[in-house]
Amino acid sequence: MTRPILQIEGLRKVFGGLVAVNDVSFSVAEGELLGLIGPNGSGKTTTMNLISGALPATAGTIRLDGSPITGLTAAAISRAGVARTFQLVRILPGMSAVENVIAGGVYSRAGRWGPEAETRARELLARVGMEGRSDLPLSAMTYIDQKRVELARALAADPRLLLLDEWLAGLNPAELQMAISLIRSIHAEGMTIIMVEHVMDAIRSLCGRCVVMNSGVRIGEGATADVLADPQVMAAYLGE
Ligand code: ADP
Repeated sequence: MTRPILQIEGLRKVFGGLVAVNDVSFSVAEGELLGLIGPNGSGKTTTMNLISGALPATAGTIRLDGSPITGLTAAAISRAGVARTFQLVRILPGMSAVENVIAGGVYSRAGRWGPEAETRARELLARVGMEGRSDLPLSAMTYIDQKRVELARALAADPRLLLLDEWLAGLNPAELQMAISLIRSIHAEGMTIIMVEHVMDAIRSLCGRCVVMNSGVRIGEGATADVLADPQVMAAYLGE
């Protein structure tokens, strides 16, 4: 592996009596697009929440560029270079697209403010296909456009590592093709990405490597085609 940007070792999260993430370890190389897959309830979103600092880990270490980020606040982890989109669009509906994206940049590594933040927000909105529509309120936008804004908002934090949590969920086939192309091009520009996704066609076409979780445990890791052909992985999905 080229230099790992993220190293997860012995990660564990317990909710009451439930072990949602059970001693999970994996690394992500700089520039990689890693799929994090597994059946419902296997601990994928919890893992994303631990990486982004939305939840504290029960045990284990997460290193970004060699430095531990475990125990830091979500804001500090964002400033360190980790940004995410959410499973459900979490934009602020009364605000315009550009205001939402500016809000996403508040905890950026660059720490942009005022006109500089707005210029960057408009650039990012154009990047995700929202040129000319940046001043519309979110409430007036289609679902796919809200997703584009959500992506631009995550990019406004100038991430070194982008976490996409089922960003493709709920799209129709044409929207899905557009969304896959957009992720591919953002990755091609050098962004390191972890994507939690149920859309297997997207995983196959985008991710060189996957980590598979089941019941909180990492049950597979490797080249996507190999992982998806693994009988243990198929059995985990069939048991869903
Ligand atoms: P996935 O993303 O793979 O569907 P999750 O990480 O959402 O799985 O959930 C893993 C397990 O942890 C599930 O059993 C879920 O019910 C539980 N869980 C997730 N978040 C919480 C929480 N905040 N409190 C209690 N249990 C939770």
